Order: sequence, then C-alpha cells, then structure tokens
Amino acid sequence: MTRQAIVAANWKMNGDSALVDTMVSGLADIKLSSHVDVVICPSFPYLSELAQKIKAANLNEAIHVGSQNVSEHESGAYTGEISTAMLQNLAISYVIVGHSERRSIYKETSTQVAKKVHAALNAGLTPILCIGESETERASGATETVLSAQLQPVIDEIGIEKFNDVVIAYEPVWAIGTGKTASSAMAQETHQFIRQFLAQQNEQVAAKIPLLYGGSVNAANCEELFAQADIDGGLIGGASLKAEQFKIICSAAKGK
Ligand code: PEP
Repeated sequence: MTRQAIVAANWKMNGDSALVDTMVSGLADIKLSSHVDVVICPSFPYLSELAQKIKAANLNEAIHVGSQNVSEHESGAYTGEISTAMLQNLAISYVIVGHSERRSIYKETSTQVAKKVHAALNAGLTPILCIGESETERASGATETVLSAQLQPVIDEIGIEKFNDVVIAYEPVWAIGTGKTASSAMAQETHQFIRQFLAQQNEQVAAKIPLLYGGSVNAANCEELFAQADIDGGLIGGASLKAEQFKIICSAAKGK
C-alpha cells in the first residue's frame, strides 16, 4: 500500500482573480510524483473561478480545489456561513476544518470542529482536519495531551473507520506564519505520536491516513520535512501565494 501525499495551499484572506490566473498558468507544467494530490484553497469568492480555470486550462488532474471552512449546519439562518451542499455544487472536493485561526479567532471548539468534519464527510468532501499546540503548551510538555484532546471528539463523533476519508494536518500554532518551522525531527516525532494514537483504535486506518505538516513550510525546507517517515506532505500558507515556490513544494512530495 502506498500512502497518498497531499500538498494543500491555504491562501487565507489573501489573493484575488490575478492570483488565480498566476497560479493556474504557473502550475501548467508542474511535475508531480504519482500518489500526490495538490489542493488549492482560496477564499470563498474565488472557489468557483479557480475550479473553472483549472478545468479550462486542463491542469494535471491531481490538482483540486478546497475550501478554507464550512458550516456544520445543513442550511438555514446562519448569515455569512457556507454549507457543504454549496461546496458540492461548485465541484469542491476538500475542506480545511479547524484551522488554528478558526479555533483561536473565531472560537471554534473541538466539538464544533468534529461536527464540521462529520458534515463534510456526509457530503462526500474530504476534510483536512487541523490540530496543533500553542507555544506555551509545547513548552510545558502538554503537546500530546492537547493533540489527543483535539482528536478524540472527532473520533467520538464520526468513529475511527471514517478516518479512512480524512486528512490530518499537524500545525504547531507557534510555527504558523512566523517563519519558525518545527525541526524535521520534532515534526516527525509528533506525527509519529499522532499515527500511534490513531493506531491504538485502528492500525489500518492509522497506516493509511495522510498526515500533513504545516507551519512556515517553504521551498528550502520542504524536502527535508517531506522525507520524514510519517510526514505525507504539507499545508502551506505564505509560500502557497507564490506560484514558483508552491510548485517546488508540490514537486517535493512523494507517496510513501
Ligand atoms: C497555514 O496557514 O496553515 C500555514 C501553515 O501558514 P504558513 O505556511 O504561512 O506558516
């Protein structure tokens, strides 16, 4: 069995139609290893445009479009929210769930994140579930406790077997957008912990799930990070806004 590698771009609240065009033309001649998927997650207003332009440009079929968030509710009086059905309608296949900025700024709880994962799966979307500890939590030795507490509500909500259709992104909060990357050894150690945590409940699921690393990944450090045994690609913020850098990062990913 080869585990799929994924490189996902999180544009956050950045980018515009010009970036959509630059990215689509920049990725026209991308070389990807087999067992690699690329997911680009722009802001909501550009989802449809990006999906259409990727199709029109006949880009590598391993390149997909993802959303940065989704509502846990099906429909109704939730002003400003976007439903899974709306994403399905736009032929979106992935959704980032529980990014640390959603957890810290918008106060999303792990229970709510679990409901979002459930809603995404019910709609046939692949959730990229983000987990990660803060700097203080790392310093006080609480990393594993924090990660377990973020994962367990999702396991309770969907059951471990459904993790066959989930991607996990480990993103130490102190490494996001700061230029401070976790060392490859530290990232590997934490990824190994996450895989072992899942393996306690189901070894096959744990062996198959893609575990992405996120936190200041760039063209210079991606190769070493992706070479680690339990790192199956990355969730990329800042460096995903530059087509040339992003391309190098995508090309460094390999299925394991
Ligand atoms: C992110 O937004 O998930 C992220 C990892 O950002 P950056 O790569 O800029 O640290």
